[in-house]
Order: sequence, then C-alpha cells, then structure tokens
Amino acid sequence: MSTSSTALRTHLCGELRPDHIGERVALCGWVARRREHGEHLAFIDLRDHTGIVQCVVDGGADLRSEFVVRITGTVRHRPEGTVNDALATGGVEVGECDVEVLSAAEPPPFPLDERAPDVDETIRLRHRYLDLRRDEMQRNLRTRAKVNSAIRSAMDGQGFVEIETPMLIASTPEGARDFVVPARTRPGSFYALPQSPQLFKQLCMVGGVDRYYQIARCFRDEDLRADRQFEFTQLDAEMSFADQEDVLAAISGAVDSVVEAVTGGRLGDVPRMTWHDAMDRYGSDKPDTRFGLELVELTDLFAATGFNAFKAPCIKGVRHPGAAADTTRSRLDDLTDSAKRWGAKGLVWMRVEQGDDGATVLNSPVAKFLSPEELDGIVTRLGAEPGDLCYLVADDWHAVCHVLGLLRLELARPPVDASDLHFLWVVDFPLFESVDEATGRPVPAHHPFTMPHAEDLGLLDGSPEQLLKVRSQAYDLVLNGWELGSGSVRVHDPAVQRRIFELLGISPEDAQERFGFLLDAFRFGAPPHAGFAFGIDRLVALLLGEENIREVIAFPKTQSGGDPLTGAPAEIDPAQLEELGLRLLPRST
Ligand code: ASP
Repeated sequence: MSTSSTALRTHLCGELRPDHIGERVALCGWVARRREHGEHLAFIDLRDHTGIVQCVVDGGADLRSEFVVRITGTVRHRPEGTVNDALATGGVEVGECDVEVLSAAEPPPFPLDERAPDVDETIRLRHRYLDLRRDEMQRNLRTRAKVNSAIRSAMDGQGFVEIETPMLIASTPEGARDFVVPARTRPGSFYALPQSPQLFKQLCMVGGVDRYYQIARCFRDEDLRADRQFEFTQLDAEMSFADQEDVLAAISGAVDSVVEAVTGGRLGDVPRMTWHDAMDRYGSDKPDTRFGLELVELTDLFAATGFNAFKAPCIKGVRHPGAAADTTRSRLDDLTDSAKRWGAKGLVWMRVEQGDDGATVLNSPVAKFLSPEELDGIVTRLGAEPGDLCYLVADDWHAVCHVLGLLRLELARPPVDASDLHFLWVVDFPLFESVDEATGRPVPAHHPFTMPHAEDLGLLDGSPEQLLKVRSQAYDLVLNGWELGSGSVRVHDPAVQRRIFELLGISPEDAQERFGFLLDAFRFGAPPHAGFAFGIDRLVALLLGEENIREVIAFPKTQSGGDPLTGAPAEIDPAQLEELGLRLLPRST
C-alpha cells in the first residue's frame, strides 16, 4: 500500500516535484503560512510531516495558521523568478485550488518553527502535540523509530529473541530509588516499577532462552538531567554460554546497524580502554575522547618538594593550549571555586610565557615556592608552550583524576553536535567503587550479580585495599563522553555470589528475601551468561546532535519531573486512597 494516498489525499505535501506537473492532486495538512496578494489571490504554505508545498488559491481563502485543510489542485511550474531552491518542493506549486476546511484552529501559543526551541519549556510541553508538528521533532521521532527498527533487525538476525518482562515487579537492585505502585488487592504491599529487567533476563537464561533482548522501558527515581529522565528506554540483552567478547560483538552489531540506518556510515572497530586508563588519562569512566587536554602524571617531579601543597600522593596537570590570553583572572578564580566544589583542596594555575631570554617561564602565584627543576619538569612533561595555560591538582589519585576530569570538560568540551561519533568500550571496571568509611563495607560499582575477573577472585578474601583492586568483568559503552550503557558477565556460581553478598553486608536471609527467586533458580542449572543494556534515548539524541534527551522523547517530563500536558503527577481521589489502604501524612511546610 502506498504510504501517501488515503481516502482524503493522493500525495504528501513534501513529495511533489516537477515530475508531477500537470497532475491533479489532493493534499491534506496544516496551514503553515498564508500570504495575501490583493483581495483575490492567496498563497498557502501547506505542511504535513514530509514538508511544505505552496498552494495558490484564486479568490482568496478564509484560512488561518494551523487550520487543517484539504486542497485539491493541479501541480504546475512556479512562475519564472519564484523558484525556491531552499524548499524540496520549491520548483512547483499547486494551482487551481479547491480548499476544504477539515478543522479550524485557534492561533498556536508559540510559533511552530525554528523559534520554538527558545520558548519556555513548560509551554512547549503543555502543548507538545503542537511542538511535535515541527520539522525537527518529526525528524527526531522518525529517526528514533528507525533506530528501534534497526536494533530489532540486528538482534533478530543474531538469534536474539524479543521477550517482554513485567512492569509490576519486586525491586531490582540497580542502585537508584524505585517508583512504587500500591497493590489494591494486598493493602500495605507495593510493586516496584523495573529499574531494569535485569533479574528477569537472567531467569530467561536459566529458562533456556539462550539469547534474549527487549526494547525495555526502565524507571529510576533519580534527579532529572539533560541525559536522564525518570523513565527511559534501553536495548536490554542477555546471552548464555557467552563471555565479554561475545557480548561486545553482539552489541556492536546492533549499534553498527543503528549507525548505518541513521548516518549511512559504519561503526568500524570501537576502541577499548581500561577503566584505570580512562580515569588516569581523562579523569572519567566515560571519557569524552573527542578532544585532548589529557591528564599528565607529575607526581614524581615533586618527590622532594618543599612546597607543602604538593606533598601529596598524586599530582597531575592539564595543559590548555593557547588559552592564556583569553582566560581572565576572574575566570581563573571561578575555576578554582569549581575545583573546590568538586572536592579539590585547591587549583594551581600557571600561565606559560616567554621570558626576556627566550626561555619558557611559568607565571603563577605558586611559582616562587617551586624549584627551577620542578618548574622545568612541569614545562617538559606537559609540553607547555608560551600562550598556554596549565592547571595542576595535588591530592589522592581518585580526587586528582575526578577534579581534573571535570575541569577538562569545563575548559574544552565541544558541543554534542560538533564532531563525529567517538564510541569507546571501557572495560575492566573495579568490582567495588569504594569502601564505606562508616560500615567498612565495599560499595559495588555495578549490581551485585557482576562477575569478578577470574585472576582476582583470590582478592575477595583480602584487605579493603585488596578488595578495591578486584577487577570485574563489567564494561561500558561510551559515546562522545556520555555513558550509553553497561553490562557484565554474571555470577552463576553460588559460592562466589554468597561471598559477594557477604562482603556487601547482605545476609543470607536478606539475599533470600530480596533475590531468593533468582538464587533458587540458579540451583536448578544456570548456564554461564552475560549481558548488556544501552540507552536508546541517549543514542538517538547524540546521533541527532541534541543536547537533551527530551528532544527525542515524544512526551517527556520537565526538569522537575512533571508533565505539564497531563498534569502528572497529580493527587488522587480520597476514595482511591481508601481502596488502596493508604492515608496521606500532613504535608510538612
Ligand atoms: N541491568 C543493567 C543496567 O540497566 C545492564 C546490564 O547489566 O545488563 O544498567
């Protein structure tokens, strides 16, 4: 069936070309613009999701913007001198028009064109159905559909089976807060909405599914950000008898088909970096590798320093080429404040200048505390040249990497749409992120079902320092500095799982109560398995050069978590509360 013609139309607005000249066509759409030429001639720009075409209505027409009309007319050449090359249909117009109004429209509350992104977000979202009429939003929604379809065909082609897992579940441990749903039939009990289908996909492996996938909606009650909504969509996958390489290959297959569908290019080989290198060189576990400003190791230069602030376990520096002239003192003060907010004790900055004798000189409030060898060492190690600005941080390794990683982004991160796609696998994440000072227990870097590296299993019985050295078989996919997704090889050995729960302070009773169904399932023959999930909202946003995932979600929430269109979240009827066995506490003011 043609995608153009329906009972009311023969063609779509954006598809008319000189080939159609002479044809009588029926078009349906919205009035994008209307211009009068005297009393008896009107030019109507008619718009549907494919674009705009100019219709010339003799005798004028009583139409306003956003009226829904059906125009029947004949396609003809535009008169000499009025061809519009900026428009795909710009060589033609529709003349001898009959106009039928299908729906009248009130004036829209904001202009439905390139000015819309500057309109207050709440107004755009309250009238999202109008916002969606814009070219950019149509492009975004259709690209997203193309991405979903490319993912499905790649996963189907690799033998994965699409399975829907439930939305009303018990809590899944992904480390965020759950959204809960009260259970009417069991007052006082609650379902959780899935933070991910993690436990179900592992059960699918025990169930002999072999390869599972789902384009899964996940819910996490965390603060909203440009790359985070309460509900988001992931490609979620799991495979049996598979290791990390198998998962990386399968996910690369899906991403490759997405990239091809959207850009026409190919993914190619995705580079890999260990978590340790990513932190050490970029100060981030999701390094934006589109630009340099890498962190440079300087610790050894200050082994015998007399400068107290540099008597630290780790010192690194970042060189911002050519930035000295444009960076004011007040900007440097702001950067220092930011560095302190990020956890640094201070930020040392140095302007690189050329001395009278032609030598390179570091101009900095701390220069007088450093020896000539130390200053030379900084210049050489950082490759500093006159005109550059250098920044140094001294602290423990984690703090130094973290602060310089954020500083690097602040100084030079390009806009999302400024460059090619830089995909990166980050591998060998630590199993534990830190040790909680209060409890002395390690904090897991991923969910507790992540398998340690075989060589590091012995360290699970070691000291807290040794625990922090345990590498896990967990891996992330990063694109242009955004974490697209993560996954791991799973623990399927009950003894290892018991030990990890024990380390995390989850007692056998606790474990049984929270994930007993999974542990029970594992007693009945669990295949070794591994999986992954990546965020489709984020991938589509980056492919389209959008800074905020809201732009690729049909009906997103605002920054504060509300939906101005439907009014959610809203109070519910007292009768409904009663039925659910709930009573509200008085609101604290
Ligand atoms: N469930 C994990 C997540 O949603 C992904 C995985 O480990 O497969 O981040």
